Amino acid sequence: MAKFKTHVSWGVFIGVGLVVAGLIFSIFSGVESAIWIFFAVLLGSFLPDLDLDDGVPFQILFGLLGAGFAGLIFFNFYQEGERSLKILFFIPALSFILIRFVAGSIFKQFTHHRGMFHSIPAAILFGLLMIWFSHIFSIIIGKELLIGASVTIGYIGHLILDEIYSSTNLSAGSLFPKQSVGSALKFSSASRISTFVFYCVLLALALTLPETKGFFTI
Ligand SMILES: [Zn+2]
Repeated sequence: MAKFKTHVSWGVFIGVGLVVAGLIFSIFSGVESAIWIFFAVLLGSFLPDLDLDDGVPFQILFGLLGAGFAGLIFFNFYQEGERSLKILFFIPALSFILIRFVAGSIFKQFTHHRGMFHSIPAAILFGLLMIWFSHIFSIIIGKELLIGASVTIGYIGHLILDEIYSSTNLSAGSLFPKQSVGSALKFSSASRISTFVFYCVLLALALTLPETKGFFTI
């Protein structure tokens, strides 16, 4: 397994490559698009290791989600004229704890390292989620598919790097494959239930996208 730092460096490398290629072939233009595409690749390059209990990706994502929701709740209360310090701090703090620790530990219960998070359908699923996210928050209108594809490219880059590390066993100085070889670039996991759930979510996300609806109405 490649380490977090290695994945981030690899993500930066792919991100820069994609931005340069996109600019050369005029797939997009403008600094804003370039920045979003770069960060989408970087995000994709560390997302698969969310399944690593208490790993850096898990802490970053659940920490950010918790802090983001707490901030939103605080802001909403404040805007509506709430000035009670107990409410202004207690409810956001509670929501942070609920997301970071309660939802986080439920997530850990349902995932294990190199399960469905390390698979090709997961790479597509997170790409679709990013397209949805871009639509909802109006990020670079018209470039939603490109941003989603960037997450998928970063994600697949992570899976390829994991496979390279597994097949060469570099850390042990051996050229013989590790047992984990083939466990990153795959289409299904040992758990039929999680494979089924992943494909159902994937299909639901793909079919409800505005782009898909547009495709069928043309
Ligand atoms: Zn990994």
